[in-house]
Amino acid sequence: MIDLTQDIQYVKGVGPNRAILLRKLGINNLEDLITYYPRNYEDRGKPISIIDAQDEEEVLIEGVVVSKINEIRTRRRNMTIYKLIVRDETESCVMIWYNQAYLKSLFKIGQKCRFFGKISKKAGKIEMNSPVYDFEGKDRNTGKIIPIYPLTYKLKQNTIRKIIETGLKLIENDKLEETLPDYILKENNLIDINSAIKKIHFPENFEDFSKARKRLVYEELMNMQILLLSLKNKYSKKEEGIRFSKSAKMSDVINALPFKLTKAQLRVLEEIDRDMESGKVMNRLLQGDVGSGKTAISMIAGYKAVKSGYQMTIMAPTAILAAQHLESFEKTLAPFGIKCELLVGSITKKKKEDILERLKNGEIDILIGTHALLEENVVFKNLGLVVTDEQHRFGVRQRGIISSKGNNPDVLVMTATPIPRTLALILYGDLDISIIDELPPNRKEIKTHIVRKAKEQGLNSFVREQIKQGRQAYIVCPLVEDSEEIEANSVMKMAEIYQNQVFPDLKVEYLHGKMKAKEKDAIMEDFKNGKIDILISTTVIEVGVNVPNASIMIIENAERFGLAQLHQLRGRVGRGEYESFCFLKCEGKSEIARQRMNVMKETNNGFIISEKDLELRGTGEFFGTKQHGLPEFKIANLFEDIKILKAVQETALKVINEDPYLEQEKNEKFKKFVEKRFNERLEI
Ligand code: ADP
Ligand code: MG
Repeated sequence: MIDLTQDIQYVKGVGPNRAILLRKLGINNLEDLITYYPRNYEDRGKPISIIDAQDEEEVLIEGVVVSKINEIRTRRRNMTIYKLIVRDETESCVMIWYNQAYLKSLFKIGQKCRFFGKISKKAGKIEMNSPVYDFEGKDRNTGKIIPIYPLTYKLKQNTIRKIIETGLKLIENDKLEETLPDYILKENNLIDINSAIKKIHFPENFEDFSKARKRLVYEELMNMQILLLSLKNKYSKKEEGIRFSKSAKMSDVINALPFKLTKAQLRVLEEIDRDMESGKVMNRLLQGDVGSGKTAISMIAGYKAVKSGYQMTIMAPTAILAAQHLESFEKTLAPFGIKCELLVGSITKKKKEDILERLKNGEIDILIGTHALLEENVVFKNLGLVVTDEQHRFGVRQRGIISSKGNNPDVLVMTATPIPRTLALILYGDLDISIIDELPPNRKEIKTHIVRKAKEQGLNSFVREQIKQGRQAYIVCPLVEDSEEIEANSVMKMAEIYQNQVFPDLKVEYLHGKMKAKEKDAIMEDFKNGKIDILISTTVIEVGVNVPNASIMIIENAERFGLAQLHQLRGRVGRGEYESFCFLKCEGKSEIARQRMNVMKETNNGFIISEKDLELRGTGEFFGTKQHGLPEFKIANLFEDIKILKAVQETALKVINEDPYLEQEKNEKFKKFVEKRFNERLEI
């Protein structure tokens, strides 16, 4: 077998200088080299007649050199131009190169050559700029499907292609060890690794390419999924978790609630109860649409923890939300003699010291807070349950920090971002997943309308009417301040317009993320208490705030938001007894924009919306920037390859269920991969 870890510098034709450039592309050894997959391909297989070449088209032509035009020096730009006239049976074409003096002696009159490049037609003249070429009988640059590599830094496509060719020579005659189990290859109709690597770089036809790609994508996704599932097993096997008391009964709280839990809530609580009573550490993701009642779940779990003699903590992304949680927790749990406290950045030093002291003594049962909880001086007596709310705002590391404040506490991660199951398995593959897929029955459907500019007047009158009846409204804008680059309405501009022109008689305030926390909290408090009629805001209000009296949500430039985000924003209304409305202001005329807005109009189900969003925009857009935490892939594309991903996940689950620690001989290859990754301690 070949040593794939051999340094790139010693591959023939590389040497120290090129090695430096290759390293910049992340190519350090032979394995990196042969898995540096093409971004695209050019079919330079069949030449066409010059007369058929279209302007702007990239084509291959074959002809005889009929004359060489002496180089021309341009004085102004200090360039040399070299031209060649080539003829086939139909027409002639001028080849043009810049600053490539060595070409002069290369071509001979009467020589037959092939040229590949972009055609430009000017005043009846056919030209090709900086073509690549081959002399008759050679097919280094033409005559086949040519791979185009993604980034080449200072290396030419030609050069990198040659180096990869050399790399492939080293593994000729099936020197690569197969990386997938035999039965997986057979069952899924996948080609072997040696053919796949060869064909992905130099496919002879499209079928070759797609077979190679399918195999490599499958492998990449499969290995990742097996790794994540193994990681989960490793966690749960690793350490003894807390066994919470069977006599601390969740039903005590459930029976005391002013409402009946939904079936989905009860099912999720059962899952959590089982985890908490078992000796394994709970690592559970709770997904539930806005308003599905996740807070109640965390309270009931908290009750069980406290009644078993442990403390609980819950971390929220904003102070407003934390304060809201405190209110709900106290209302429900104080009657059971449970002591809750709030720890956020803005409390006084004295109050903080007091809280920290009582936390250490065990006088506080449940501590609710923001990032302030992560500080080192926050020490618990006996932390048994950690809940993080709206997980997408916290990183895995923060989850780790807070867990380390207890001795293997159970962890519940709550999120309202509906993530399609396929992606959840990747993002949270190390967590068990519970889903609340049902809203409490008292919820009123939020009526959603798409509003064009011409209808704005009507909308404003409607808002005024609602406010007269005692309701409140949110207006969300995509930007804080006006920007020259993006044509979208800013909070500042809209506040100005609404305050002075549209609703001068109403109380209009604004809120955005750049304001001080204290100012924000004060405005939110005023809005909650009904002292503000209309709140203009950026998406800072997206997360969890609860103002049951607000019944209108207007979103400016709705086309600029992701669907998942629009859905979150819409979830700010319809939280009380009043009929509620969401207005999406949108001028986007593209088909996709239209489809996206229609999805919002047609459904209130967050999971359907996120699936559609994924379908219409792809994963990159779906999760915004790289922050999403999805692993990076060399060849797979989660959007295009969603079918393969689904198949992979099914198989991976089956493999791990049958053979949790990959001990069976047939799964040896998986085991090898997983161990290698564990040993490398790679972050995944
Ligand atoms: P989210 O899942 O968005 O965090 P919350 O936990 O804030 O939702 O719940 C929203 C509102 O619904 C709260 O006022 C809560 O008291 C109420 N609620 C929760 N569960 C139920 C239920 N089963 N029936 C009726 N109301 C409920
Ligand atoms: Mg919530």
